[in-house]
Amino acid sequence: MRLETLADQLSDAECADLTGGLGPWMTTPVPRLGVPSAKTSDGMVGVRGERFVGTSSTCFPCGTALGATWDPDLVRRVGNALADEAGRKQVAVLLAPVLNLHRHPLAGRNFESFSEDPLLAARLGVGYIRGVQELGVAAVAKHFVANDAEVDRERVEARVDESTLREVYLAPFEAAVREGHVWAVMSAYNKLNGTYCSEHPWLLGEVLRGEWGFDGIVVSDWGGTHSSAASLVAGLDLEMPGPPRQHGRRLLETIADDERWALAASAGRMLRLLDRTGAAAIDPRGAESSDEPVEIRAVAREAAEQAIVLLANDGTLPLEPGSLRRVAVIGPHGEHTPVQGGGSAFVNPQDPVGILVGLRTALGPGVEVVHERGVSVGKHAPLLTGDQIVTPDGRPGMLVEYRAADDGTLLDSQVLTSTSLLSIGPPVARPMGEILVRTIARLRAAASGDHTFGLMSAGHTTVRIDGRVILDSRDAPRGGEAFFGRSTQEITAAIDLEEGTEHELEVDVVPIVEKSETLGFLLGCWRPVDTSAMDRAVALARGADVAIVAVGTTAEHETEGGDRDDLGLPGDQDELVRRVAAANPRTIVVLVCGAAVAMPWVDRVAACLVAWFGGQEVGTAVARVLLDQVGPSGRLPVTFPRDASQLPDLGFDGTTITYREGTAFGYRRYLHDGLVPAFPFGHGLAYTTFRSSDARAVREGEKVTVEVRIENTGERRGIAVVQAYAAFTATHESPRLAAFARVDLEPGAAEVALLHLGGTELRRWDARSRSWTVPRGPLELSIGWSATTIEQVLHV
Ligand code: BGC
Repeated sequence: MRLETLADQLSDAECADLTGGLGPWMTTPVPRLGVPSAKTSDGMVGVRGERFVGTSSTCFPCGTALGATWDPDLVRRVGNALADEAGRKQVAVLLAPVLNLHRHPLAGRNFESFSEDPLLAARLGVGYIRGVQELGVAAVAKHFVANDAEVDRERVEARVDESTLREVYLAPFEAAVREGHVWAVMSAYNKLNGTYCSEHPWLLGEVLRGEWGFDGIVVSDWGGTHSSAASLVAGLDLEMPGPPRQHGRRLLETIADDERWALAASAGRMLRLLDRTGAAAIDPRGAESSDEPVEIRAVAREAAEQAIVLLANDGTLPLEPGSLRRVAVIGPHGEHTPVQGGGSAFVNPQDPVGILVGLRTALGPGVEVVHERGVSVGKHAPLLTGDQIVTPDGRPGMLVEYRAADDGTLLDSQVLTSTSLLSIGPPVARPMGEILVRTIARLRAAASGDHTFGLMSAGHTTVRIDGRVILDSRDAPRGGEAFFGRSTQEITAAIDLEEGTEHELEVDVVPIVEKSETLGFLLGCWRPVDTSAMDRAVALARGADVAIVAVGTTAEHETEGGDRDDLGLPGDQDELVRRVAAANPRTIVVLVCGAAVAMPWVDRVAACLVAWFGGQEVGTAVARVLLDQVGPSGRLPVTFPRDASQLPDLGFDGTTITYREGTAFGYRRYLHDGLVPAFPFGHGLAYTTFRSSDARAVREGEKVTVEVRIENTGERRGIAVVQAYAAFTATHESPRLAAFARVDLEPGAAEVALLHLGGTELRRWDARSRSWTVPRGPLELSIGWSATTIEQVLHV
């Protein structure tokens, strides 16, 4: 039976119930009519399930990495794999994809977004949504709209003119609705031109539902509902998380009689969502499985491989395994390669493969693969893990006990693999205010000297070593960036420990009852400084046939709740690359990051590739690409600036972010201002070369079809990504990506690629008439391999 047919039988109170959440992740059921709860879970790189610690999930490459594939079909298969995992976790609604754009290279959540280009983000977003939804799981296009930076994100106002909104920031969402038929949209935290997105009648009513014909639900971002009836009437169906503060039963008091239609309309849409996702057949309280079918892991590996962008290569790559005896893997990301960024998108990956292990496996026992970190890269004190801490009964990790606040009764317990805990909503079935958290471990000192412990927390946290309080979060200023900006800032305390000694470590947390229902801590420890680490790394690189330097950012630098401070690689990584490159001419840099970084050393290294936060198979993928078991075929979905002087202005004045640059951002700003970046949008090398020729274009009414011949002129198989940029010359606009195609070619082979323009690619918003037009005047089409590597120009 379709639940939607029950709409007429719902009382006002039951309708109201459907508009609010039940706990952190569930929607509210209506038991009288058999209307179930649906479970939501964060996405983009995986389906985490209810808990931040506990179950594990396949971790796919981050949004930017998927962006670098330029392959909507592959992204669709990633969507299929995510839907599959959602099934194992009883999840009906996946909170992804992120369709915001890389407006500024330092925005904290860039790693979750596909690109700086609206067309590329739209094509990949549609692929992602189709992949998730064709297996009956709802995708959620988020964050609607102009949530393109993290600074003061829950209050800030984005000021964007209508043409820019329409042509750039709304465009991927429009495609998600019109082409992807997405079943849900998440409103952004921020205000848009004066009004919170979650209560914006023009955005949610006129544009999303009116013009685009959206028939799904609008869900708030977590804690981002600011009004009761006003948000419902504007078009916000579901307030999350629960219990609702503005929606739910409160609506019965705030809603006017002539607004009651909105209550019934939202309830009807909620029923439609439950029908679409088959929620009635899912037990949202059922166990979440951590199983990982092999074919799902294979998709994660393929996506990681296809995402890798070869930026520069003097011919050192690909490596010939037969010529190698000793390979040095250098750098902080060599062994413990970060596989994802931080924040709500975080999942517990399944057996992540770092670059060191990936290379050892790919090269086999005949080649010695040696490793030195060289430098440390953490922004905060690194978490203690199973090799340094054990539970009282000897298991690696830390024992956490959830106890009743009044009489100390043990309610539940679990083992944490590292010194970090996070729960959104109570971790056990009791209100937050009635719980105490106690964690215990034995800590083994691996070196003698000052150990500096660092703590960030959400809740009142005390840290004791051997019974003595060393850190108390009540001494810490608020405004830390962990837990989506809801933690205290890091406070530190140094204590002297002797190598080999054991100590009792206790961390107690008393929850603070507040709107976000966030509970957790991050406890790290800087071990005594090892001043000779870089020298050892350089010496190791000198004696090797090839030095592979894995550097980049981490989930601490690229995370929800804060923007990055600068474009440079954190810590002494630039110095490490320079010194290794000086010691070994065959130095290859592998960048692990989720957004653009500066590479002041790039002209001094033999080759450089970007592996991004490539998900749990990043190490396997890097090894396979270095050895040409699969060729590099990724292309940059964002511009890499030369240095900080090329960073754009965020336009933030303390309360407002003004999108002053209009549509001229990303590569269009570089083209407009004549700036030369380090690497342009669309750039990426293969192990072969390509030539494009014989381009022809036919313009018929508002549509243009382009044919272009692509030839593999080199000696290896490879994938070419041909790109067409369009500009109407009469308006002096900068070219914008209008079409692209991937062509897989054997050496010497050629193929004619067909590019179609004329859906939305050629329309422009006319601010005066407030409508779309396709300009009649001359159109210039630039065809090539990146925004600046153009081989043919057509005028049509
Ligand atoms: C994020 C959303 C996420 C939600 C639930 C918010 O902090 O902005 O992207 O889906 O939390 O975790």
